[in-house]
Amino acid sequence: MSQGIGILGFQGDVSEHIGIIKTIARKHKKNIPVTEIRKKDQLDNVSGLIIPGGESTTMYKLLNLYGIYDEVISRAMDGFPVMGTCAGLIVISKETNDSRVKGMNLIDTTIERNAYGRQIDSFIHEINISGIGEYKAVFIRAPVISDAGSSEILAVYNNKPVMVRKGNILGMTFHPELTNDLRVHEYFLDIVGGEG
Ligand code: GLN
Repeated sequence: MSQGIGILGFQGDVSEHIGIIKTIARKHKKNIPVTEIRKKDQLDNVSGLIIPGGESTTMYKLLNLYGIYDEVISRAMDGFPVMGTCAGLIVISKETNDSRVKGMNLIDTTIERNAYGRQIDSFIHEINISGIGEYKAVFIRAPVISDAGSSEILAVYNNKPVMVRKGNILGMTFHPELTNDLRVHEYFLDIVGGEG
């Protein structure tokens, strides 16, 4: 990895993602700088971007307001790695089925927002992630991927894809930043480092 990792810093689980990347850096005794991205020029200083969970409609507005939306699309089309978790996945998807969030179409997924119900319907469930193994996934007002299109399905829950990949783009409906399990972020860092 030539530079560090950016976390879209507007809203949502920003500090949790930063914490996980710092823990990974300590564990592997590597220097992995982490930048909270709030301006598009900051993307010059990172080798990959994480778009966190939170509220996708708010994130969409701010991404456009600060000119980051189009910048991420053009960089991702040139191979820049992007990982979207929950609301972040909604933002990078092809079809969100919600006029308030236009998906970036970085990955060929169709989404149903809040398809598991309200906040109270959040849950933790064991899933099996291809290339990672057994994993306790935290779902919070998660979207459902109703169609993964041409993307590779890395994990399913209830017969629905919950983690998908298309080359440099990785998305999941759950929250790897809310556990002590580092493996999903390590998987993304391998993509960023070109080892994916
Ligand atoms: N329900 C939120 C949305 O649609 C996503 C929830 C989350 O990121 N935990 O934006």
